[in-house]
Amino acid sequence: MAQTTSHVLETIGGYTIKRREPLERLGLYVELEHQRTGARHIHIECEDDNNAFAVFFPTAPQDSTGVAHILEHVVLAGSERYPVRDPFFSMSRRSLATFLNAMTSADSTMYPFSTRNAKDYSNLLDVYLDATFFPRLTEDAFKQEGIRFEFEDPADPKSGLLYKGVVFKEMKGALANPGAAMGKAIGKALFPGMTYEHVSGGDPQEIPNLTWEQLRKFHAVHYHPSNAYFYTYGNQSLGNTLEIIERRVLDRFQRLTFEEPLTIVKRFKKPVTVKEPFPAAPAEDNSRKSQALLAWVTTPTANSFQLLAMRVLSEVLLANAGSPLRKALIDSGLGTAIADGSGLNDDYRESVFGAGLKGIDQNDSEKVQAVVLQTLETLADDGVDQSQVDAAIHGLEFEKRERSNAGFPYALRVFFASMSAYQYGGDPYSALNFDADLEHLQNVRAEGRFFENLIRSELLDNPHRALLTVFPDVEMEERQRKAELDRLTAIEATLTEAEKARIVEEALRLKADQEAKQDLAVLPTLELTDIPMKFEDVPSKDLKIRSASVEFYPQPTNGITYLDIRADFSKLSAGEKDLLPLFSRILTHSGAAGQDYAQIASRIAATTGGVGAAAQVQSIAARDDYIESFVLSGRALDRNARPFIELLIDLVARLEIEPRRLKEVVAEMATRLESSLAGLGFQFAILRAHSKLSSEGALNDRLQGIGMLHTMRGLADLREGELKELVWRLDQIRTKLFQPGSIRIVATCEESTIETLKQLLAGLIVALPTQADETEGAEPQPLEPAPEARTAPVPVAFNVRIFKTVRYTHPDAPALLVLSNYLRDTFLHRELREKGGAYGGYAQAGIASGTFYFGSFRDPNIVRTYDVFDQAVRWVTEGEIEAETVKEAILGACGDVDPLESPDIKGRREATQRTTGFTREARERFKQRLLQVTADDLRRVAKNYLAAARPMQTTVAGADLISAARKERPNLFEVVAPI
Ligand SMILES: [Zn+2]
Repeated sequence: MAQTTSHVLETIGGYTIKRREPLERLGLYVELEHQRTGARHIHIECEDDNNAFAVFFPTAPQDSTGVAHILEHVVLAGSERYPVRDPFFSMSRRSLATFLNAMTSADSTMYPFSTRNAKDYSNLLDVYLDATFFPRLTEDAFKQEGIRFEFEDPADPKSGLLYKGVVFKEMKGALANPGAAMGKAIGKALFPGMTYEHVSGGDPQEIPNLTWEQLRKFHAVHYHPSNAYFYTYGNQSLGNTLEIIERRVLDRFQRLTFEEPLTIVKRFKKPVTVKEPFPAAPAEDNSRKSQALLAWVTTPTANSFQLLAMRVLSEVLLANAGSPLRKALIDSGLGTAIADGSGLNDDYRESVFGAGLKGIDQNDSEKVQAVVLQTLETLADDGVDQSQVDAAIHGLEFEKRERSNAGFPYALRVFFASMSAYQYGGDPYSALNFDADLEHLQNVRAEGRFFENLIRSELLDNPHRALLTVFPDVEMEERQRKAELDRLTAIEATLTEAEKARIVEEALRLKADQEAKQDLAVLPTLELTDIPMKFEDVPSKDLKIRSASVEFYPQPTNGITYLDIRADFSKLSAGEKDLLPLFSRILTHSGAAGQDYAQIASRIAATTGGVGAAAQVQSIAARDDYIESFVLSGRALDRNARPFIELLIDLVARLEIEPRRLKEVVAEMATRLESSLAGLGFQFAILRAHSKLSSEGALNDRLQGIGMLHTMRGLADLREGELKELVWRLDQIRTKLFQPGSIRIVATCEESTIETLKQLLAGLIVALPTQADETEGAEPQPLEPAPEARTAPVPVAFNVRIFKTVRYTHPDAPALLVLSNYLRDTFLHRELREKGGAYGGYAQAGIASGTFYFGSFRDPNIVRTYDVFDQAVRWVTEGEIEAETVKEAILGACGDVDPLESPDIKGRREATQRTTGFTREARERFKQRLLQVTADDLRRVAKNYLAAARPMQTTVAGADLISAARKERPNLFEVVAPI
């Protein structure tokens, strides 16, 4: 599209539009500046209804008191128009936000949110603007969040003086590891005299030096419109947002001039060496716990092209086991893994590249340095492998292009991608216009020796480099503890009785204030009438290619094709179904079509954004039944459609399973399972309890739960001679699953790619296996209903009680969903987490599978927790229920049934829902009913489904905890066994 350039500057309100340009595949980029205050603003106008807002302030600290970090906490503790204790947390319960948070980095503090609801957007905008520009910054909040004195027993002035404070405690935990020591060493060694030499989060030894006055001054100087960078994104009117920002904030300020606190670091003439200790336990063997990193200051992060080039180089050198620098480091045998801080770090104004090893002897740092320098010399002389450069560029391109909301909403990923250029005076537009930088890179690369020259100019010939060693120090913790104690003892000696009495009085008052109920009526909220009732249609195009059904879901995927090959696995025998977890892994980690597994792995990396497989059990909406679907899925750039589908053909039609490779994969899976039992305890307890209710539950237990663990253990014990038989059985599974007549191909892609895909998929379908033995499928029976305890090597308990309820289309299902939100946020949060000390206490309604469970996560209790589950039901059926809390539970439930989805998820969900009966009409009916749920409904469903039913129970916990629980209540479990 041709752009006309106007010489008259356009304005919106008090803003001048400085630049307006289209961004390919994204929308329109608008850059503005507020005339009177100088506030900057970037807006991305696009179709996305997930609208985002962010404001950030450069907040470069000049010491390690943690002032910027503590300020972030205090800013979130109430403001002029919203004088409540914790407005952000309270808003999260009265909002449909898809993201809501605040973050402090080394030199800036940001406050981002996103939501798809227009009223929610303006509610959150009001709260964010008021919080950042007009916070109360009370002395109490400073003491609570930052630093204060308190006695060990807060009521007893003779019990010993202590430092207390949220950030003080947070940073003590955050700094006590080698990674944090490395971060500290990088800042100190490479950026002397600059803000980065300080610990921006706060060093517990310096945090007590910060005063409330300094904190308020820091706010006045930094949180000012003339130092503010705004960002908005989405389909809402920019004019409206700007008008609100002006009216609420900018109208109340005059322009300030800011001194540029960050300058470019003065380059060294000679490299330096720095050593930094980290605390280590004296009892352990610390002989090989050190790390060495060779690190350079390289290109400015504001220059998007130079940063891209360095990023590609960093990937080429270190990304995977075959990357030359990583390989040389590991092969040296000096250490066990790549050091913390390795790779390209762009959190600073100038990027830092580092490479090194962990698990080394403290005296081997120089040797690590020699390996790094020699390897770089060789690469600069002999040349970099171009196929590795291609793979690195492909990986970055995929990451940039994918419009995913996983982790962070895409709306904010765009912001993060432009932030360095925005903050450091670069060109944010070109940081977002990735294709142009990429084209430029391909051009200069074609001229030859580009990356070889980059290795010389940025690394080998660049003397601004440091050799950093972090080493275990067994006395460090004790030294710091003693220093803190000495400091406190000296202070305590100077305190008068009156001062001590005031510390006691203040501690008790702070505690009372924290526990006091507050009036949240001042905060804006969504009403149930603000909830959208319609779900959008997801269009599709269906066809048959030979006997296979193919469904296309056209979506704006930004040039990426997502493909599922879904096979019905109900026809497999029980023994074959048990092998599906192994089959899923072996299918994507073996050789095929004459290539070994390593060659297949590099094809996957070079042509796709990832390929994976899993067996899925999908609940039917209207009856007690389920669909068994084995899914092989992958994603690739549209231009790689052909090699991508050729790869899939090789996997489903020409898989070659080697007994030796199979043994490796089995061993690796079994080891990983055993070593992650602590993390899997909750999932295992839920699935086991569920398996006692239904065949569907029993199948899930065998595919992902304790049943699967037992299968994998059996396979790990197989002898050499039995492997051949296993290979044969896995191959049988493959031919049974991928029959053309029983597969569905689900493609989510750009409309324009459909024709190409049709041709390619026809080739895939022709290649599928056609001959297989017909077998009768078998469904597992529900397991014994007896309450069960499984001992595991964990110091905590995971307790689950599950009830059978009703499925999605039943009129009571919405009330059960609201009930679970209600119980989780009120009674269970208080009783299990706050009073019981569990990390989490949950109630969850399985609206698809017709179940409802109570669960506790990393819980120190068993008997008490089951009592709390009992009380929870009575608490609802017999207690008061506040209308406002029910409303918040309904809002939470609305977020559950209508989550933010990426384009690929939309297509895949629609494909599943059309077979399981979660039609658009059924979903809309469900939501209608959801909004009408009342307190009486909650009492009624709690009585009918929870109070009257016989629930199933499973606990996974440490053996001590289980035996103590059995002593206290002998009948609690009927089955007790190791996991
Ligand atoms: Zn914090």
